[in-house]
Amino acid sequence: MKIRRITANVYELPLGMVNAFIVEDDALTLIDTGAPGSTGKILAAVREIGRAPEDIQHILLTHAHPDHAGSVAELKRATPAKVWMHAAEAPHLAEGFIPKPPEPVFTSFLNKTLYNLFVKKASSEIPPANADELMEDGDWLPMAGGMHVIHIPGHSPGQLAFFLPGQKNVMFAADAADNMFGLSYACFYENLVEARHSLERLATFDFDIACFGHGRSILSNAAARFRKRFIHPAAHTAKDQQQWIAVEKEAIVRLQEPGEKL
Ligand SMILES: [Zn+2]
Ligand SMILES: [Zn+2]
Repeated sequence: MKIRRITANVYELPLGMVNAFIVEDDALTLIDTGAPGSTGKILAAVREIGRAPEDIQHILLTHAHPDHAGSVAELKRATPAKVWMHAAEAPHLAEGFIPKPPEPVFTSFLNKTLYNLFVKKASSEIPPANADELMEDGDWLPMAGGMHVIHIPGHSPGQLAFFLPGQKNVMFAADAADNMFGLSYACFYENLVEARHSLERLATFDFDIACFGHGRSILSNAAARFRKRFIHPAAHTAKDQQQWIAVEKEAIVRLQEPGEKL
């Protein structure tokens, strides 16, 4: 795995299609855990940065989707970490079944295609695990000098972003957006109205760096790029307006039935 150092104390761990992150302090905080079976890769990354599995004291889950919470149960056995998440998704993790949205909403044909290829047929089952601590909007976590918890529903009901102020401010934006083919809407949303509100809220923060569940981190001017992409598009250039209108139209694309062809 190619670990990417994002700041002096933040590392990006590419785990196939999804990223996890390590925030380094006296202890380590792991943000997300990849799909089931990612534990070996994560622990190898921990050793590669010169630390030990026992140093992982906290696991923060952005949300419970299988590609983010899939290795929590295994990591709880392999490390002393406490698991933190939002109450809305804790019962799913405890059950080991993460339901897919009944009517996922897509903002582009590309995203709908990606959903059909990679998400639709993926298992909703993961090894079950219990959360140790619940987080909600406005919480301040003690790790790495303090992290701000922001509730950003829309992609999933209990999704959380984490804002880490520092020499460079870092926003862990989870699956509110992605950066696979440039900064863009996530592959799918459960609720697009909530998702837009969440993106606008994220864009009010001042962050240099944005980290995503999918796609590489943006390393400079990230908040400005969020504002340009997700806020008041009508005030931008004609080209942007057209894109926005296209998104508005495409936003009504819904997956009508499981067997439908592209
Ligand atoms: Zn997700
Ligand atoms: Zn994801």
